[in-house]
Amino acid sequence: PDDGVLEDMEAFGHSFKNITQRYRLINRIGEGTFSTVYKAEDLLYNHYENNWDPEAEKENHDSALSRLKQPPSQSTKAKFVAIKKIYVTSSPLRILNELELLHDLRDSPNVCPLITAFRHQDQVIAILPYFQHKDFREYYRELPVSEMRIYFKSLFLAVQSVHDHDIIHRDIKPTNFLYCPTKKRGVLVDFGLAEREGTDYHHCPCILENPDRQRKIQQSVYATTLNAAQAAGQQAPKLAYPTDDKRPSRRANRAGTRGFRAPEVLLKCTAQTVLIDIWSCGIILLTFLSRRFPFFHSADDIDAFIELCCIFGKKRMKDIALQHGQVMHSNLPTVSDNGHSWEKILLWCTNRTKKEGESGLSQEEHEAVDFMKCCLALDPAKRISAAEALAHPFLRGVDE
Ligand code: ADP
Ligand code: MG
Repeated sequence: PDDGVLEDMEAFGHSFKNITQRYRLINRIGEGTFSTVYKAEDLLYNHYENNWDPEAEKENHDSALSRLKQPPSQSTKAKFVAIKKIYVTSSPLRILNELELLHDLRDSPNVCPLITAFRHQDQVIAILPYFQHKDFREYYRELPVSEMRIYFKSLFLAVQSVHDHDIIHRDIKPTNFLYCPTKKRGVLVDFGLAEREGTDYHHCPCILENPDRQRKIQQSVYATTLNAAQAAGQQAPKLAYPTDDKRPSRRANRAGTRGFRAPEVLLKCTAQTVLIDIWSCGIILLTFLSRRFPFFHSADDIDAFIELCCIFGKKRMKDIALQHGQVMHSNLPTVSDNGHSWEKILLWCTNRTKKEGESGLSQEEHEAVDFMKCCLALDPAKRISAAEALAHPFLRGVDE
């Protein structure tokens, strides 16, 4: 570690009561918006392995967090740990949420388990087993398709279990899935934005069956124009962009990382489901296949939506917007009606053009694209679930 990091670790050691008696800080391995993560050695590892005393352990603990403490099980004991120092500016509820969800997921395959958590004054730290992994930027350009299968099998096993617990991760992306190519295994981390499905649930037109949905949307978007037309004995006006939209502005959870947000998140759907995570997994696969990271460069949600329009085309994006009660209108000349095929996009990205006699994508790339399309279905109702993904030909035969 360089001087700055050494200084930071020393300051942390001093500020957190007794931490250095239990852990030897080795390095700083992560610094994000919500936390700093250190690699450390558990100095009591051998001690606890031989004499575990749950009662004594309880007394050492802050009572609010003691219920999160479990004797180290086979899966959570570790000599090397990751200490996640959650920034004190995070709300206590948010911190508790992250720890609680991790606790619920303690037996989930490929989800990094929580060993324990401590609090000193306003500082909370989560202790996780350290997981050796390779930086995504070092392998996304050359990972062969055969190995993508292994990566995604590992990822989807984690996602399936998270979804079985009715939990939405909300922030699936390469830095939150730590993959080790030699072990051929990865673990899902960072439940800082995760939530239980149905939290903040409000009605959204997307949950209505089609005829019902059309009527509801017409009613809400065009109420004023419709009423005026009816009063004047005229025919109902055609669906068009409302220039005088009287509806209150919408609020929905849009937490996540730009470029990885599902279309329904961008459209402020208020009935989001676990399927938003599947979209994010699809974006990771798109990154591998296109050899571009990040694939999307959007500055904000509108930009992100336009990027999707360029690929999927205006027609399909209009339909999907309407499903969530939004009317899309664009006069951008670069956005075509029908968009472009994935095959064409991937060939462009990898500097291959399908000339006469050239085959384009390889057979295994085609299989990967078929799978990716299932993850990147614009309509969540048509998107593959984690369990279905594991049964898909792309992942089915992969050894664990
Ligand atoms: P944040 O909310 O700040 O993004 P994360 O939980 O994603 O926090 O951790 C940040 C980074 O720290 C990760 O991207 C990863 O590089 C590293 N990290 C987190 N947990 C572990 C772990 N158990 N083992 C190894 N590295 C980890
Ligand atoms: Mg993270």
